[in-house]
Amino acid sequence: MAIGSAPEVAMSAAISATKLLINNEWVESSSGKTFPTINPATEEVICHVSEADADDVDRAVRAAREAFERGPWRKAPASERGRLLHRLADLIENHADELARLESLDNGKPYSVARAADVPKAAACYRYFAGWADKVQGRTIPIKGDYFCYTRLEPVGVVGQIIPWNFPLIMQAWKLAPALATGNTVVMKPAEQTPLTALRIGELIVEAGFPPGVVNLLPGYGPAAGAAIARHMDVDKIAFTGSTAVGHLIMEAAAQSNLKRVTLELGGKSPNIIFADADFDQAIEGAHMALFYNQGQSCSAGSRTFVEERAYDEFVERSAARARRRRVGDPFDPATEQGPQVDQEQYQKVMRYIGSGKSEGARLMCGGNRVGERGWFIEPTVFADVKDDMAIAREEIFGPVMSIIKFRDLEEVVDRANRTEYGLAAAVWTRDIGKAYSIANNVRAGTVWVNCYNAFDPAAPFGGFKQSGMGRELGEYGLQQYTESKTVTVKL
Ligand code: NAP
Ligand code: MG
Repeated sequence: MAIGSAPEVAMSAAISATKLLINNEWVESSSGKTFPTINPATEEVICHVSEADADDVDRAVRAAREAFERGPWRKAPASERGRLLHRLADLIENHADELARLESLDNGKPYSVARAADVPKAAACYRYFAGWADKVQGRTIPIKGDYFCYTRLEPVGVVGQIIPWNFPLIMQAWKLAPALATGNTVVMKPAEQTPLTALRIGELIVEAGFPPGVVNLLPGYGPAAGAAIARHMDVDKIAFTGSTAVGHLIMEAAAQSNLKRVTLELGGKSPNIIFADADFDQAIEGAHMALFYNQGQSCSAGSRTFVEERAYDEFVERSAARARRRRVGDPFDPATEQGPQVDQEQYQKVMRYIGSGKSEGARLMCGGNRVGERGWFIEPTVFADVKDDMAIAREEIFGPVMSIIKFRDLEEVVDRANRTEYGLAAAVWTRDIGKAYSIANNVRAGTVWVNCYNAFDPAAPFGGFKQSGMGRELGEYGLQQYTESKTVTVKL
């Protein structure tokens, strides 16, 4: 296993965008500060990036406001916004290899995965919302009296967007595409760990022909740039994806400033329920990918693997065997399935949870250790006999740690699945349509997958119940979060 080598393919990702994008110009931060972005496979600095703070947020918001109120964006036909989004998707597809290299370098995810999934999925999201741009329609309403009453769906205005590091390109697309399709202007902060693809997309946005001020990108840190966006009096809406703890801060900032609209996509502790009658080959591979995909760093990760008692022992054995076969290593090696965790902080957090699983008495079936000495690699880890009250069964680990939990029957598993502050996703594996239907109806989560997992599509809305968030992204529901409805009544 070659860990942490940085072959030519990685380094051939030329890095051109390392500054702030404000008003279609690449500028230094007003403080002149920069921060390093690190390759998590080698712990080496890739490059230094300009670090935005509150002053730069002000500048960017002014540019976005000007573009919204007075720029050509406002007056352009809706179909023109669609055309620009399609052009951006074309450019992403034309630069797919390069973007995948950059994503892998900055985040640590396998290049093969970034190339096959992250890049095409980002492009598909821009295309999906490009199609909506000229199809956002109000209604005519038959009110009483001699009036003509209709609604218009107008852009919310200047939108602040804060995104995480786990799927940098995809999270950027989920946020930008619906905001732009509906005519908003944007001030976005990419995650401090992974600014590079967001900035490269910024170059492609300029190349595609988006007018100045429509998209502004501010790499920097959450407590400085992120918080300044959240409390800004001239930001009309904020969309955030990340931890539930920061989600609370965003809502507070919105409440204490201008009541900006808030949508949140937060953490999860999603139940993945496997009945004994499931197709076992599919369920084992499905549960493996549900948890281990993206180094376990998915908000939707199937991180509570509930297995019916009758099939429990077989499932535990075969899942551990599958995890032992998982190839951990150099993200640029085509055989690699799992790269490093995104940074030292996440690595340490995951290792603490592994320690807690052991000390609370879960049965360690495999893994549990660091891989190598350079780069934040962790062995695929499987715990069996996990109990509902253990920390590893309650809290979001965000790493390659599977917790297998035994259950007896349908009613009991629904009850236990729902005993969580989260409600992002759930899945059920069974050949019995009645059980599948019952889980789908009774588990409180924004998405339920039946005999599959992580089946995402730009047309299918995604988001959380309870403390997994508010609002939905993607699909028509996602679009609605970027418009205000205006009622116009005309006396005839
Ligand atoms: P995080 O702090 O919530 O980061 C998400 C984004 O919010 C980043 O851009 C971050 O900036 C920014 N941010 C941080 N503090 C902020 C503040 N006070 N005001 C405004 N923005 C702020 O998450 P994390 O620290 O990277 O990861 C911690 C845990 O969050 C993970 O272990 C995982 O459990 C969860 N998480 C969930 C998702 C998801 O998809 N739902 C994604 C990532 C993480 P910085 O770049 O400076 O951090
Ligand atoms: Mg953070």
